[in-house]
Amino acid sequence: MSTRKDPSIAKTNNPKKCDKCLEKVAITLNYGPHYFCEKHFVQFFENRVKKTIRKYNLLAPGEKILIALSGGKDSTVILHLLAKYYKKGREIEALIIDEGVRGYRDKSVKAAEENCKKLGIKYTLISFKKEFGLTNDQIMPLIEKNSKLGGTCAFCGTLRRNIMNKYAKKIGAKKLATGHNLDDEVQSFVMNVFNNDFERMKRMGANAGVIEHKGFVKRIKPLYETPEKEIIAFCAFNGIKHYSEECCPYSWTAKRNEYREMLNNFEDRFPGTQYSILRFYENVKKSVAPAEKEKTTMKNALKECEKCKEPTENKLCKACEMIELLKKEIRENKKGTKNTFGKKNKKLTCLTTKRMKNKYK
Ligand code: SF4
Repeated sequence: MSTRKDPSIAKTNNPKKCDKCLEKVAITLNYGPHYFCEKHFVQFFENRVKKTIRKYNLLAPGEKILIALSGGKDSTVILHLLAKYYKKGREIEALIIDEGVRGYRDKSVKAAEENCKKLGIKYTLISFKKEFGLTNDQIMPLIEKNSKLGGTCAFCGTLRRNIMNKYAKKIGAKKLATGHNLDDEVQSFVMNVFNNDFERMKRMGANAGVIEHKGFVKRIKPLYETPEKEIIAFCAFNGIKHYSEECCPYSWTAKRNEYREMLNNFEDRFPGTQYSILRFYENVKKSVAPAEKEKTTMKNALKECEKCKEPTENKLCKACEMIELLKKEIRENKKGTKNTFGKKNKKLTCLTTKRMKNKYK
């Protein structure tokens, strides 16, 4: 276990006063540094999310918004903030996806449903099982056995995005809000650099994607400039209930964990690193944005997937192609494959969340 110092300072140990009032400090944000009591931290946090929404034009009046809700902290905070500040004149709905991870997703789905009921937000639950005929618990052992099929989270993410986009179009949503936070974005950028994946890097941002097309619902990230640790504190200070007891049993396999660990170390030693990386990415993005002609070529290359009608450049979209591969794998492995994921080393799973979970209780 890492012995590095936690960057925030607990309320009881900090003799300093809040930057805005005479209250004791509840949280220290070292990149500022900022010292806040609970009330002023909450204000600071909410103002930054509103500023992100304005700066990147994430929401327009009257638009219907679909929130991709997992029941975890990030999407739950989006649900609370959009319900609190952006409900007027807009329809807001939530989509909960059950990937089929026994003992994990069932609990987070429950948390997601409870939050929707509490806030009076209409929600819909769609499962991988119903949509694709397979659950993650069935998919993951196949991937473990044959790594050529792809990465576990890459599979899961592609299937989830397919459901989200289809459902958003079905209900006429203009925007699809996801819970991606600053840490997620910075990790993605660094991963793309390490993988030399320029095309994927171009698609990142608070407004994801490079082209507008009727087949794609615009994905927006209101927490794009919000650090993960502050989301944990915000939930604790506001008593926002979300699911955080366990991590997905497959999450330890994601390469992203290594990047999270590395970037957290940098942020702890050199506060502000994550913001610097994000700003650097923004500059890069501006200079590599495709010209209108290139965008038109990209749009013209898109056709409908033969199975699900989602936009794709090929006969099948990525999700349908993956499902075909998996079904073939199942046919060829008639004896079935044992799920041994739970027995593996989970050292790098959800480290940040685990470390911070009890801090602000
Ligand atoms: Fe899917 Fe990976 Fe998330 Fe588990 S951790 S739900 S496998 S994306």
